[in-house]
Amino acid sequence: MRIDIITVQPALLDGPLNHSMIQRAKDKGFAEIHIINLRDYALNRYGQVDDYQFGGGAGMVLMCEPLAKAIDSLKAERSYDEVIYTSPDGELWNQKAANALSLKNNIIILCGHYKGIDERIRNLYVTKEVSIGDYVLTGGELAAAIISDSIIRLLPGVLGNEESALTDSFQDGLLAPPVYTRPAEFRGMKVPEVLLSGNFKLIEEWRMSQAEQRTRERRPDIYNQYYNDTQAH
Ligand code: SAH
Repeated sequence: MRIDIITVQPALLDGPLNHSMIQRAKDKGFAEIHIINLRDYALNRYGQVDDYQFGGGAGMVLMCEPLAKAIDSLKAERSYDEVIYTSPDGELWNQKAANALSLKNNIIILCGHYKGIDERIRNLYVTKEVSIGDYVLTGGELAAAIISDSIIRLLPGVLGNEESALTDSFQDGLLAPPVYTRPAEFRGMKVPEVLLSGNFKLIEEWRMSQAEQRTRERRPDIYNQYYNDTQAH
């Protein structure tokens, strides 16, 4: 899978996409991430990529021309399954959306900045708009990092068996159960007995019931969906 991220702040993406699981995925050839500096497609030699908004008001807007040029030059090289714009008014990002995108080959992620991007780019090029939550960020870079991370860890082979994404929260419609590691007793608090029992059937049942309880308490919305789905089967 290839992800091209178009940004005016490439440095913001240096850290999140060059370590840990994502770096491993890149090293193993499962994923390619390219950071495109929008200023390479600037309007003039001053590196201009933004301008005041029509109608007045605070905040700059990323201009059509540099964005169009950047996207066109990518599209000239290969076809893309999605052109995603990160935006607070987009569809809320979740595991289901990550699962779906992890099946694509090539995607572009556009990071807005300042007041956002010219609406005409959204109309002309963008195929999907994604929000990572009901709050406003300074730019789309952190959102792009979150989207990329949650997709790439799902690509077959990226996580080893022992780290399987299938046992993470949301994958089976439930939050994850609590986890423990050594020591078996810490400040008088003992690890639940069943986890030390070696009885995998009992452990599985315990994890399931903890996951259900946790989901019921913390996310009744998710639990109701899960409950309805399991009743339906
Ligand atoms: N004026 C816009 C916010 C601009 S914030 C509004 O009120 O909707 C600047 C940029 O940060 C946006 O263009 C977008 O790319 C990114 N951004 C901000 N909040 C985001 C969120 N919750 N999810 C995804 N991207 C976000």
